[in-house]
Amino acid sequence: MIKQTPLINDFVTVPRRKSDGLKLNIIGQSRQSLLEQLSIAGIRDEHLKMRLDQIWGWLYQKGITDFSQMKNISKEARAVLENHFVINIPQIVKKEISRDGTRKYLLKLTGGHEVETVFIPEVDRGTLCISSQVGCTLTCSFCHTGTQKLVRNLTTSEIIGQILLARHDLQDWPTKEKSLARQPRKLSNVVLMGMGEPLYNFEAVKDAMYIAMDPSGISLSRRRITLSTSGVVPEISKVGSEIGCMLAISFHATTDEVRNNLVPINKRWNISALLNELRNYPRLSNSERITFEYVMLKGINDSDEDARRLINLIKGIPAKINLIPFNEWPGAPYKRSSNNRINAFATIIHNAGYSSPIRRPRGEDIMAACGQLKSVTERERKSKKQIIQEITS
Ligand code: SAH
Ligand code: SF4
Repeated sequence: MIKQTPLINDFVTVPRRKSDGLKLNIIGQSRQSLLEQLSIAGIRDEHLKMRLDQIWGWLYQKGITDFSQMKNISKEARAVLENHFVINIPQIVKKEISRDGTRKYLLKLTGGHEVETVFIPEVDRGTLCISSQVGCTLTCSFCHTGTQKLVRNLTTSEIIGQILLARHDLQDWPTKEKSLARQPRKLSNVVLMGMGEPLYNFEAVKDAMYIAMDPSGISLSRRRITLSTSGVVPEISKVGSEIGCMLAISFHATTDEVRNNLVPINKRWNISALLNELRNYPRLSNSERITFEYVMLKGINDSDEDARRLINLIKGIPAKINLIPFNEWPGAPYKRSSNNRINAFATIIHNAGYSSPIRRPRGEDIMAACGQLKSVTERERKSKKQIIQEITS
């Protein structure tokens, strides 16, 4: 039996409207919903779709934060927008910049909850690691987020809002002098690898990614977006068929015994159920390989035998194996495998014909690396004993 932290959305309604009770946040409204809302608001324009594209252009491509700046929209229509909508994005309450340039943002959401978003600059790209939930209901024993008790789903607007606030912070908007078409974007990739299990918040994640991919929205190619899941088997095929972005699986172990301990959702859907699902994944091809994430934990899952077992297990699935040196956090019950061990593991996989990059930890000095996220003010933490009790019960 997997014990789960209760999801507080089950009993707390997250306000969707401003405190004056009238205005709706325009950020995160899906195309369909916004068309309906615009029409209800009184914009009875025969070119409603074109109007929506213009509004989205201002919001998502130019980053304006005030309706009065929407220059190509009539004064009357702007007044209607102002009367019915607000432009709200989550507030950055703390920003930390690592020695390596990684930026970690702590965000305050409606209701006072906090999540973290991380921007990782690289030579050829800038990746934003976004959160899909406050905390996580799953309790992977090596993940700091999994020790957080408070959990709620993020709304579509809070998910897409993370991209907007990072673009504001990075000043990643076109100016008169440089159009974004000519200037490479600072934020070019998005990974759903922050706090939370995105497949437990599928609809909000899907709507947010539609806006991220829409040519009138953030306009990112679907191949520049990766969703990572711990293995919510019944939802996985929808990533390919309904969102169309890239898929990553937090695999981390080659036997059910070990995976049950590391990724307790394995007790619900085990390795064989997960791999069967992946063999039938809608977008499976050599050009769209599935990424298997594999955290390297000293003496737990890092032997040569593990590497060989991994190759046998994934046979037939176009895959890339991303090795993640374990990122330690205070009180973590594991240690990182040595560099020699990680290299030996990578070599076995590489020799079997799979790409096996070793992920370079980023932002470790500010606790921004994979699995280190956890809002600072959320101090209540489960003890090591509690975690072990949960994963063994
Ligand atoms: N819940 C989703 C996405 C968020 S976790 C999932 O589990 O896939 C993003 C990635 O970070 C996952 O592969 C996760 O296993 C990994 N991760 C978690 N804690 C980690 C840690 N302490 N060190 C290294 N990677 C970690
Ligand atoms: Fe949740 Fe992913 Fe962390 Fe597991 S690894 S606890 S699924 S965020």
